[in-house]
Amino acid sequence: MPELPEVEVTRERIAPALVGRRIAAVHTTRTSYFFLTPPERLRERLCGRRALDLERVGKYLVAPLDDGRRLVLHLGMTGQLFAEGVSSVRLLSATVRAALAPEEQRAFAPDAHTHLRLAFEDRGPALIFRDVRKFGKVLLLEPGEKTVRLERLGVDALRASGAELYAAARKRTAPIKNLLLDQSVIAGAGNIYADEALFLTGVRPTRGARRLTRRQCDALATALQRVLRRSIETGGSSISDYVAPDGRDGAYQDERRVYAREGQPCHACGTQIRRVVIGQRSAHYCPRCQA
Ligand SMILES: [Zn+2]
Repeated sequence: MPELPEVEVTRERIAPALVGRRIAAVHTTRTSYFFLTPPERLRERLCGRRALDLERVGKYLVAPLDDGRRLVLHLGMTGQLFAEGVSSVRLLSATVRAALAPEEQRAFAPDAHTHLRLAFEDRGPALIFRDVRKFGKVLLLEPGEKTVRLERLGVDALRASGAELYAAARKRTAPIKNLLLDQSVIAGAGNIYADEALFLTGVRPTRGARRLTRRQCDALATALQRVLRRSIETGGSSISDYVAPDGRDGAYQDERRVYAREGQPCHACGTQIRRVVIGQRSAHYCPRCQA
């Protein structure tokens, strides 16, 4: 699932393909839970509009338009946002991939999973939002309209301070890992980066949030920012279906210390990394380095 770094990398790379270009045509698939705004309304209201900017709010992308409306996009589990003409084998299914000769494997043509395609007046590359599992979301907000999806988000994980984390942690008996994943407390952090930050802080994901000291919260906030920034620098983590908008793969997965490394030796002490399930989510930690 794309987390803050993947969404931020998407924002950085997709902004030039969207911002300032006048939309000439809007193609969608049929009405489905993918569309929080009905597709016919999107087609009608996006035509002729221009995005003034592309911002990230938690794991959402928000494009303010020149008519005061805002286009809100969420990548969900398997959403892929990219400019037409980009090539990546990740955009093809494994079976399709296997049937193609290597030199044919890279081209992408809009398919049944291409739920939103914006064509522009300048006739340059279209913008494509593709999502195989359709957990992604498209929402068009009227001028001044608010949505609980954005309103309920806590402080952005890239700006969360130790003091804010400590204030939230003191009220919780739940494991610290749950607190880090709660988007209403810290927006944007997810499973990978929460596990990595907890490792760097030497705190087990199962530790009750209330039992963290102020100093540990400071260290945890710093570690979280560090892993998120490093991941953005390396292009995010290329896991499951995430594809950077220009087809490049991210490289952060190569730097993981604990996430999805169950049974492998800890880079710091050699002890086998463990996996536990907290709530519905798995957490990974080193039993020796993390207390
Ligand atoms: Zn260790």
